[in-house]
Amino acid sequence: MTDTNTYDLIVLGGGMSGLPVALKSAHHGLETALVERDLLGGTCLNRGCIPTKTMIRSAEVAHLARRADEFGVTIDGEIGTDMEAVVERQQRVVESIREGAYSNVEDADELDLIEGRGVFESATELAAGDRTLTADRIVLNTGARPVEPPIDGLDEVDTLDSTSALEASDVPEHLAVVGGGYVGCEFAQMYARFGADVTVFQRGDRLLPAEDPDVSDVIEDAFEVEGIDVQTGTAVEALESTSSGVRATSGDADGIEVSHVLVAAGRRANTTVSASKTLAWRSTTGVSSRSTISSGPRPTRSMRSGTSPARRCSRTRPATTPTFCTVTSSTAKRSTPPSGSFPTRCSPIRRSAASVSLNGKQKSRDTTWRSVGATTPNRGNRKRWVKPKGS
Ligand SMILES: Cc1cc2nc3c(=O)[nH]c(=O)nc-3n(C[C@H](O)[C@H](O)[C@H](O)COP(=O)(O)OP(=O)(O)OC[C@H]3O[C@@H](n4cnc5c(N)ncnc54)[C@H](O)[C@@H]3O)c2cc1C
Repeated sequence: MTDTNTYDLIVLGGGMSGLPVALKSAHHGLETALVERDLLGGTCLNRGCIPTKTMIRSAEVAHLARRADEFGVTIDGEIGTDMEAVVERQQRVVESIREGAYSNVEDADELDLIEGRGVFESATELAAGDRTLTADRIVLNTGARPVEPPIDGLDEVDTLDSTSALEASDVPEHLAVVGGGYVGCEFAQMYARFGADVTVFQRGDRLLPAEDPDVSDVIEDAFEVEGIDVQTGTAVEALESTSSGVRATSGDADGIEVSHVLVAAGRRANTTVSASKTLAWRSTTGVSSRSTISSGPRPTRSMRSGTSPARRCSRTRPATTPTFCTVTSSTAKRSTPPSGSFPTRCSPIRRSAASVSLNGKQKSRDTTWRSVGATTPNRGNRKRWVKPKGS
Protein backbone atom coordinates (compact mmCIF):
# COMPACT_ATOMS: atom_id res chain seq x y z
CA MET A 1 0.00 0.00 0.00
CA THR A 2 1.31 3.51 -0.85
CA ASP A 3 1.59 6.32 1.68
CA THR A 4 -0.79 9.20 1.35
CA ASN A 5 0.89 12.60 1.01
CA THR A 6 -1.18 15.51 2.24
CA TYR A 7 -0.95 18.93 0.61
CA ASP A 8 -2.75 22.22 0.97
CA LEU A 9 -3.47 22.22 -2.74
CA ILE A 10 -3.18 19.76 -5.59
CA VAL A 11 -3.16 21.03 -9.15
CA LEU A 12 -3.92 18.38 -11.75
CA GLY A 13 -2.49 19.40 -15.12
CA GLY A 14 0.60 21.55 -15.68
CA GLY A 15 -0.56 23.50 -18.70
CA MET A 16 -0.70 27.25 -18.98
CA SER A 17 -3.55 27.43 -16.50
CA GLY A 18 -2.41 24.81 -13.98
CA LEU A 19 1.22 25.94 -13.93
CA PRO A 20 0.65 29.54 -12.76
CA VAL A 21 -1.97 28.38 -10.24
CA ALA A 22 0.57 25.98 -8.73
CA LEU A 23 3.40 28.53 -8.76
CA LYS A 24 1.26 31.24 -7.16
CA SER A 25 -0.06 28.84 -4.56
CA ALA A 26 3.48 27.78 -3.60
CA HIS A 27 4.62 31.40 -3.67
CA HIS A 28 1.97 32.18 -1.05
CA GLY A 29 3.27 29.40 1.16
CA LEU A 30 0.79 26.63 0.47
CA GLU A 31 2.26 23.14 0.23
CA THR A 32 1.37 22.40 -3.35
CA ALA A 33 1.53 19.35 -5.59
CA LEU A 34 1.49 19.77 -9.35
CA VAL A 35 0.64 16.60 -11.25
CA GLU A 36 1.52 16.42 -14.95
CA ARG A 37 1.47 13.33 -17.13
CA ASP A 38 3.38 14.81 -20.03
CA LEU A 39 5.35 18.05 -20.43
CA LEU A 40 4.98 21.22 -18.41
CA GLY A 41 3.33 23.93 -20.45
CA GLY A 42 0.60 21.65 -21.78
CA THR A 43 -1.08 22.34 -25.09
CA CYS A 44 -0.25 26.02 -25.35
CA LEU A 45 3.48 25.64 -24.98
CA ASN A 46 4.09 22.25 -26.53
CA ARG A 47 1.51 21.89 -29.33
CA GLY A 48 -0.65 25.01 -29.39
CA CYS A 49 -0.08 28.74 -29.14
CA ILE A 50 3.72 28.88 -29.04
CA PRO A 51 4.68 26.40 -31.78
CA THR A 52 1.92 27.60 -34.10
CA LYS A 53 2.82 31.24 -33.66
CA THR A 54 6.49 30.46 -34.19
CA MET A 55 5.76 28.68 -37.47
CA ILE A 56 3.24 31.33 -38.46
CA ARG A 57 6.04 33.86 -38.12
CA SER A 58 8.15 31.83 -40.58
CA ALA A 59 5.15 31.75 -42.93
CA GLU A 60 4.75 35.50 -42.59
CA VAL A 61 8.40 36.01 -43.55
CA ALA A 62 7.87 33.89 -46.69
CA HIS A 63 4.71 35.86 -47.47
CA LEU A 64 6.49 39.20 -47.06
CA ALA A 65 9.47 38.01 -49.08
CA ARG A 66 7.12 37.20 -51.97
CA ARG A 67 5.75 40.72 -51.72
CA ALA A 68 9.19 42.28 -51.30
CA ASP A 69 8.94 44.39 -54.45
CA GLU A 70 5.86 46.15 -53.02
CA PHE A 71 8.22 47.44 -50.36
CA GLY A 72 10.97 48.38 -52.77
CA VAL A 73 13.09 45.40 -51.85
CA THR A 74 14.52 43.17 -54.52
CA ILE A 75 15.09 39.48 -54.03
CA ASP A 76 16.77 37.48 -56.75
CA GLY A 77 15.64 33.90 -57.10
CA GLU A 78 12.75 31.84 -55.87
CA ILE A 79 11.30 32.10 -52.37
CA GLY A 80 11.06 28.59 -50.96
CA THR A 81 10.30 26.92 -47.65
CA ASP A 82 12.58 24.49 -45.84
CA MET A 83 10.01 22.83 -43.58
CA GLU A 84 12.61 20.95 -41.59
CA ALA A 85 14.32 24.22 -40.70
CA VAL A 86 10.97 25.82 -39.87
CA VAL A 87 10.08 22.95 -37.52
CA GLU A 88 13.55 22.95 -35.96
CA ARG A 89 13.28 26.64 -35.17
CA GLN A 90 9.84 26.08 -33.67
CA GLN A 91 11.17 23.30 -31.45
CA ARG A 92 14.09 25.44 -30.29
CA VAL A 93 11.73 28.22 -29.22
CA VAL A 94 9.40 25.79 -27.45
CA GLU A 95 12.27 24.05 -25.66
CA SER A 96 13.77 27.27 -24.38
CA ILE A 97 10.44 28.38 -22.89
CA ARG A 98 9.80 24.92 -21.49
CA GLU A 99 13.18 24.92 -19.76
CA GLY A 100 12.13 28.15 -18.07
CA ALA A 101 8.91 26.50 -16.90
CA TYR A 102 10.81 23.56 -15.37
CA SER A 103 13.32 25.79 -13.63
CA ASN A 104 10.52 27.98 -12.19
CA VAL A 105 8.93 24.86 -10.73
CA GLU A 106 12.25 23.59 -9.42
CA ASP A 107 12.93 26.93 -7.72
CA ALA A 108 9.57 27.04 -5.95
CA ASP A 109 10.19 25.74 -2.42
CA GLU A 110 6.68 24.66 -1.54
CA LEU A 111 5.98 23.01 -4.87
CA ASP A 112 6.34 19.31 -5.68
CA LEU A 113 6.14 18.29 -9.32
CA ILE A 114 4.71 14.79 -9.63
CA GLU A 115 5.21 13.34 -13.07
CA GLY A 116 2.52 10.87 -13.98
CA ARG A 117 -1.13 10.57 -14.81
CA GLY A 118 -3.45 11.58 -11.99
CA VAL A 119 -6.49 9.43 -11.37
CA PHE A 120 -9.01 10.09 -8.62
CA GLU A 121 -9.33 7.31 -6.10
CA SER A 122 -12.02 9.22 -4.26
CA ALA A 123 -13.25 12.79 -4.12
CA THR A 124 -10.22 13.80 -2.05
CA GLU A 125 -7.54 11.31 -3.06
CA LEU A 126 -5.56 11.31 -6.25
CA ALA A 127 -3.26 8.51 -7.37
CA ALA A 128 -0.28 9.82 -9.35
CA GLY A 129 2.89 7.91 -10.16
CA ASP A 130 3.58 5.69 -7.18
CA ARG A 131 1.92 8.03 -4.71
CA THR A 132 -1.47 8.83 -3.35
CA LEU A 133 -2.06 12.52 -2.78
CA THR A 134 -4.73 14.24 -0.80
CA ALA A 135 -5.69 17.86 -0.23
CA ASP A 136 -8.66 19.89 0.83
CA ARG A 137 -8.48 21.70 -2.45
CA ILE A 138 -7.88 20.09 -5.81
CA VAL A 139 -7.80 22.14 -8.98
CA LEU A 140 -8.52 20.38 -12.26
CA ASN A 141 -6.73 21.89 -15.25
CA THR A 142 -6.55 18.92 -17.52
CA GLY A 143 -7.12 20.72 -20.81
CA ALA A 144 -8.64 19.42 -24.00
CA ARG A 145 -7.91 17.27 -27.03
CA PRO A 146 -8.99 17.31 -30.69
CA VAL A 147 -12.47 16.05 -31.54
CA GLU A 148 -12.79 13.34 -34.18
CA PRO A 149 -15.74 14.35 -36.31
CA PRO A 150 -18.11 11.73 -37.75
CA ILE A 151 -16.60 11.31 -41.24
CA ASP A 152 -16.84 8.03 -43.15
CA GLY A 153 -13.39 6.58 -43.72
CA LEU A 154 -11.66 8.89 -41.24
CA ASP A 155 -10.01 5.93 -39.51
CA GLU A 156 -8.75 4.47 -42.78
CA VAL A 157 -6.87 7.45 -44.19
CA ASP A 158 -3.84 9.27 -42.87
CA THR A 159 -4.82 12.68 -41.62
CA LEU A 160 -3.04 15.46 -39.79
CA ASP A 161 -4.24 17.08 -36.62
CA SER A 162 -3.08 20.25 -34.92
CA THR A 163 -0.18 18.38 -33.30
CA SER A 164 1.16 16.42 -36.28
CA ALA A 165 0.75 19.48 -38.52
CA LEU A 166 3.50 21.06 -36.42
CA GLU A 167 5.96 18.35 -37.37
CA ALA A 168 5.55 18.23 -41.16
CA SER A 169 8.78 17.64 -43.06
CA ASP A 170 7.40 18.96 -46.38
CA VAL A 171 4.92 21.53 -47.54
CA PRO A 172 1.77 19.66 -48.66
CA GLU A 173 0.92 20.05 -52.33
CA HIS A 174 -2.79 20.52 -51.64
CA LEU A 175 -4.07 20.63 -48.09
CA ALA A 176 -7.75 20.22 -47.23
CA VAL A 177 -8.56 21.69 -43.83
CA VAL A 178 -11.68 20.26 -42.20
CA GLY A 179 -12.99 22.97 -39.89
CA GLY A 180 -12.93 26.73 -40.13
CA GLY A 181 -12.39 27.59 -36.47
CA TYR A 182 -9.28 29.33 -35.20
CA VAL A 183 -7.07 26.26 -35.41
CA GLY A 184 -8.17 25.44 -38.98
CA CYS A 185 -7.80 29.05 -40.11
CA GLU A 186 -4.33 29.41 -38.63
CA PHE A 187 -3.00 26.31 -40.32
CA ALA A 188 -4.78 27.14 -43.59
CA GLN A 189 -3.10 30.50 -43.90
CA MET A 190 0.23 29.25 -42.61
CA TYR A 191 0.48 26.42 -45.14
CA ALA A 192 -0.83 28.62 -47.96
CA ARG A 193 1.99 31.05 -47.18
CA PHE A 194 4.49 28.21 -47.17
CA GLY A 195 3.32 27.47 -50.71
CA ALA A 196 0.55 24.87 -50.46
CA ASP A 197 -2.79 25.00 -52.26
CA VAL A 198 -5.34 25.10 -49.47
CA THR A 199 -9.06 24.37 -49.34
CA VAL A 200 -10.98 25.00 -46.12
CA PHE A 201 -14.22 23.10 -45.55
CA GLN A 202 -16.43 24.76 -42.99
CA ARG A 203 -19.76 23.15 -42.07
CA GLY A 204 -21.21 26.44 -40.77
CA ASP A 205 -22.01 29.39 -42.96
CA ARG A 206 -18.88 31.37 -42.05
CA LEU A 207 -15.34 30.98 -40.82
CA LEU A 208 -14.62 31.58 -37.13
CA PRO A 209 -18.22 31.14 -35.96
CA ALA A 210 -17.25 32.03 -32.39
CA GLU A 211 -16.31 35.54 -33.51
CA ASP A 212 -18.54 38.39 -34.68
CA PRO A 213 -19.64 38.08 -38.32
CA ASP A 214 -17.58 41.11 -39.39
CA VAL A 215 -14.43 39.32 -38.17
CA SER A 216 -15.36 36.31 -40.32
CA ASP A 217 -15.87 38.63 -43.31
CA VAL A 218 -12.41 40.16 -42.92
CA ILE A 219 -10.76 36.75 -42.66
CA GLU A 220 -12.67 35.37 -45.64
CA ASP A 221 -11.66 38.40 -47.74
CA ALA A 222 -8.02 38.02 -46.69
CA PHE A 223 -8.09 34.31 -47.52
CA GLU A 224 -9.53 35.07 -50.95
CA VAL A 225 -6.72 37.55 -51.63
CA GLU A 226 -4.17 34.91 -50.59
CA GLY A 227 -5.73 32.30 -52.86
CA ILE A 228 -7.20 30.08 -50.13
CA ASP A 229 -10.34 28.30 -51.30
CA VAL A 230 -13.03 28.59 -48.59
CA GLN A 231 -16.04 26.28 -48.85
CA THR A 232 -18.54 27.39 -46.23
CA GLY A 233 -21.75 25.43 -45.62
CA THR A 234 -19.85 22.30 -46.63
CA ALA A 235 -19.35 19.39 -44.28
CA VAL A 236 -16.85 16.77 -45.37
CA GLU A 237 -18.81 13.51 -45.09
CA ALA A 238 -16.34 10.96 -46.40
CA LEU A 239 -12.61 10.51 -46.93
CA GLU A 240 -11.03 7.80 -49.04
CA SER A 241 -7.48 7.03 -50.07
CA THR A 242 -6.62 7.37 -53.75
CA SER A 243 -3.43 6.56 -55.63
CA SER A 244 -2.16 10.10 -55.18
CA GLY A 245 -3.70 11.24 -51.94
CA VAL A 246 -7.14 11.50 -50.38
CA ARG A 247 -10.57 12.21 -51.83
CA ALA A 248 -12.80 14.37 -49.64
CA THR A 249 -16.50 14.34 -50.46
CA SER A 250 -19.54 16.16 -49.26
CA GLY A 251 -23.09 15.09 -50.18
CA ASP A 252 -23.50 13.72 -53.69
CA ALA A 253 -20.73 15.85 -55.19
CA ASP A 254 -17.60 14.14 -56.55
CA GLY A 255 -15.50 15.98 -54.03
CA ILE A 256 -11.89 16.94 -54.44
CA GLU A 257 -8.66 15.06 -54.36
CA VAL A 258 -5.97 16.48 -52.14
CA SER A 259 -2.52 15.42 -50.99
CA HIS A 260 -3.16 15.94 -47.26
CA VAL A 261 -6.10 16.43 -44.90
CA LEU A 262 -5.88 18.35 -41.65
CA VAL A 263 -8.76 17.70 -39.26
CA ALA A 264 -9.41 20.71 -37.02
CA ALA A 265 -13.01 20.15 -36.00
CA GLY A 266 -12.90 21.40 -32.44
CA ARG A 267 -11.65 20.23 -29.09
CA ARG A 268 -13.22 18.52 -26.11
CA ALA A 269 -12.37 18.41 -22.44
CA ASN A 270 -9.98 15.69 -21.24
CA THR A 271 -11.99 15.07 -18.10
CA THR A 272 -14.24 12.06 -18.25
CA VAL A 273 -16.23 9.86 -15.95
CA SER A 274 -14.76 6.43 -16.36
CA ALA A 275 -16.13 3.10 -15.29
CA SER A 276 -12.84 1.32 -16.00
CA LYS A 277 -11.83 1.63 -12.40
CA THR A 278 -14.50 1.51 -9.80
CA LEU A 279 -14.75 2.31 -6.19
CA ALA A 280 -17.43 2.34 -3.61
CA TRP A 281 -19.00 5.69 -3.12
CA ARG A 282 -21.44 6.49 -0.43
CA SER A 283 -23.66 9.41 -1.21
CA THR A 284 -25.22 11.63 1.40
CA THR A 285 -28.43 9.78 0.82
CA GLY A 286 -26.80 6.68 2.18
CA VAL A 287 -26.97 4.83 -1.13
CA SER A 288 -23.65 3.43 -2.20
CA SER A 289 -22.74 3.33 -5.86
CA ARG A 290 -19.61 2.69 -7.88
CA SER A 291 -17.72 5.16 -10.00
CA THR A 292 -14.50 7.10 -10.43
CA ILE A 293 -13.31 10.13 -12.27
CA SER A 294 -10.19 10.39 -14.27
CA SER A 295 -8.99 12.05 -17.38
CA GLY A 296 -8.40 9.82 -20.32
CA PRO A 297 -10.12 8.35 -23.31
CA ARG A 298 -13.78 8.99 -23.77
CA PRO A 299 -15.85 6.28 -22.08
CA THR A 300 -18.02 4.04 -24.21
CA ARG A 301 -21.75 4.55 -24.35
CA SER A 302 -22.32 1.60 -22.05
CA MET A 303 -19.83 3.01 -19.57
CA ARG A 304 -21.50 6.37 -19.67
CA SER A 305 -24.93 5.00 -18.97
CA GLY A 306 -23.85 3.01 -15.93
CA THR A 307 -25.27 3.33 -12.48
CA SER A 308 -24.61 6.56 -10.75
CA PRO A 309 -23.52 7.78 -7.41
CA ALA A 310 -24.61 11.24 -6.50
CA ARG A 311 -25.00 13.69 -3.76
CA ARG A 312 -28.33 15.10 -3.04
CA CYS A 313 -28.75 18.57 -4.39
CA SER A 314 -30.58 20.95 -2.18
CA ARG A 315 -30.71 24.50 -3.46
CA THR A 316 -33.03 25.33 -6.30
CA ARG A 317 -33.05 27.67 -9.25
CA PRO A 318 -35.61 28.48 -11.93
CA ALA A 319 -36.71 25.81 -14.40
CA THR A 320 -35.37 27.80 -17.34
CA THR A 321 -31.77 27.10 -16.29
CA PRO A 322 -30.30 24.89 -19.01
CA THR A 323 -27.78 22.91 -16.99
CA PHE A 324 -29.09 20.79 -14.23
CA CYS A 325 -28.28 17.51 -12.73
CA THR A 326 -30.26 15.04 -10.82
CA VAL A 327 -29.46 11.47 -10.03
CA THR A 328 -30.93 8.60 -11.94
CA SER A 329 -30.01 5.73 -9.66
CA SER A 330 -32.06 4.65 -6.73
CA THR A 331 -31.46 8.03 -5.15
CA ALA A 332 -33.45 9.69 -7.88
CA LYS A 333 -36.70 9.69 -6.03
CA ARG A 334 -35.26 11.45 -3.03
CA SER A 335 -33.48 14.12 -5.06
CA THR A 336 -36.21 14.91 -7.54
CA PRO A 337 -36.80 18.62 -7.19
CA PRO A 338 -40.19 20.17 -6.70
CA SER A 339 -41.82 20.83 -10.03
CA GLY A 340 -40.65 24.02 -11.73
CA SER A 341 -37.26 24.08 -10.02
CA PHE A 342 -33.99 22.26 -10.40
CA PRO A 343 -31.46 21.29 -7.79
CA THR A 344 -28.13 23.03 -8.11
CA ARG A 345 -25.95 22.47 -5.11
CA CYS A 346 -23.97 19.64 -6.59
CA SER A 347 -20.45 20.92 -6.36
CA PRO A 348 -18.70 20.14 -9.65
CA ILE A 349 -16.40 17.66 -8.02
CA ARG A 350 -19.36 15.74 -6.70
CA ARG A 351 -21.29 15.98 -9.89
CA SER A 352 -18.33 14.74 -11.83
CA ALA A 353 -18.65 11.36 -10.21
CA ALA A 354 -22.25 11.09 -11.23
CA SER A 355 -24.05 9.81 -14.21
CA VAL A 356 -26.84 12.32 -14.44
CA SER A 357 -30.05 13.05 -16.17
CA LEU A 358 -29.75 16.22 -18.21
CA ASN A 359 -33.04 17.57 -19.44
CA GLY A 360 -34.42 14.06 -19.37
CA LYS A 361 -31.46 12.41 -21.15
CA GLN A 362 -29.02 10.10 -19.43
CA LYS A 363 -25.55 11.61 -19.56
CA SER A 364 -22.27 11.53 -17.76
CA ARG A 365 -21.02 14.89 -16.58
CA ASP A 366 -17.52 16.05 -17.22
CA THR A 367 -15.56 17.26 -14.26
CA THR A 368 -15.45 20.98 -14.79
CA TRP A 369 -14.03 22.37 -11.63
CA ARG A 370 -11.49 24.87 -12.78
CA SER A 371 -9.53 27.69 -11.31
CA VAL A 372 -11.63 30.21 -13.21
CA GLY A 373 -14.53 29.25 -10.98
CA ALA A 374 -17.91 27.73 -11.31
CA THR A 375 -20.59 29.41 -13.36
CA THR A 376 -24.17 29.44 -12.32
CA PRO A 377 -26.56 31.63 -14.25
CA ASN A 378 -28.27 33.03 -11.19
CA ARG A 379 -25.08 34.08 -9.46
CA GLY A 380 -23.01 35.09 -12.44
CA ASN A 381 -19.52 33.86 -13.15
CA ARG A 382 -17.52 34.35 -10.01
CA LYS A 383 -14.52 32.71 -8.53
CA ARG A 384 -15.13 30.38 -5.69
CA TRP A 385 -13.68 27.30 -4.16
CA VAL A 386 -15.92 24.32 -3.66
CA LYS A 387 -14.58 21.96 -1.12
CA PRO A 388 -14.50 18.30 -2.03
CA LYS A 389 -16.49 15.81 -0.06
CA GLY A 390 -15.35 15.17 3.47
CA SER A 391 -13.15 18.24 3.81
C1 LIG B 1 -3.13 24.57 -32.41
C2 LIG B 1 -3.55 25.43 -31.23
C3 LIG B 1 -3.20 26.77 -31.22
C4 LIG B 1 -3.59 27.56 -30.15
N1 LIG B 1 -3.24 28.90 -30.16
C5 LIG B 1 -3.61 29.68 -29.14
C6 LIG B 1 -3.23 31.05 -29.11
O1 LIG B 1 -2.57 31.53 -30.01
N2 LIG B 1 -3.62 31.78 -28.06
C7 LIG B 1 -4.36 31.25 -27.03
O2 LIG B 1 -4.70 31.96 -26.10
N3 LIG B 1 -4.71 29.95 -27.04
C8 LIG B 1 -4.35 29.16 -28.06
N4 LIG B 1 -4.69 27.84 -28.04
C9 LIG B 1 -5.48 27.32 -26.91
C10 LIG B 1 -4.57 27.05 -25.72
O3 LIG B 1 -3.56 26.14 -26.12
C11 LIG B 1 -5.40 26.46 -24.60
O4 LIG B 1 -6.43 27.35 -24.29
C12 LIG B 1 -4.54 26.25 -23.39
O5 LIG B 1 -3.47 25.39 -23.70
C13 LIG B 1 -5.37 25.67 -22.28
O6 LIG B 1 -4.52 25.52 -21.17
P1 LIG B 1 -4.86 24.47 -20.02
O7 LIG B 1 -3.78 24.60 -19.03
O8 LIG B 1 -6.25 24.68 -19.60
O9 LIG B 1 -4.83 23.05 -20.74
P2 LIG B 1 -3.59 22.31 -21.38
O10 LIG B 1 -2.59 23.27 -21.88
O11 LIG B 1 -4.13 21.31 -22.34
O12 LIG B 1 -2.95 21.57 -20.14
C14 LIG B 1 -3.54 20.49 -19.53
C15 LIG B 1 -2.45 19.63 -18.99
O13 LIG B 1 -3.04 18.62 -18.18
C16 LIG B 1 -2.31 17.43 -18.37
N5 LIG B 1 -3.19 16.33 -17.96
C17 LIG B 1 -4.39 15.99 -18.47
N6 LIG B 1 -4.91 14.97 -17.79
C18 LIG B 1 -4.01 14.64 -16.83
C19 LIG B 1 -3.97 13.66 -15.81
N7 LIG B 1 -4.95 12.80 -15.61
N8 LIG B 1 -2.89 13.61 -15.01
C20 LIG B 1 -1.86 14.48 -15.18
N9 LIG B 1 -1.86 15.42 -16.11
C21 LIG B 1 -2.91 15.51 -16.93
C22 LIG B 1 -1.97 17.43 -19.85
O14 LIG B 1 -0.86 16.58 -20.12
C23 LIG B 1 -1.65 18.90 -20.07
O15 LIG B 1 -0.30 19.16 -19.90
C24 LIG B 1 -4.31 27.02 -29.08
C25 LIG B 1 -4.64 25.65 -29.08
C26 LIG B 1 -4.26 24.86 -30.15
C27 LIG B 1 -4.62 23.40 -30.14
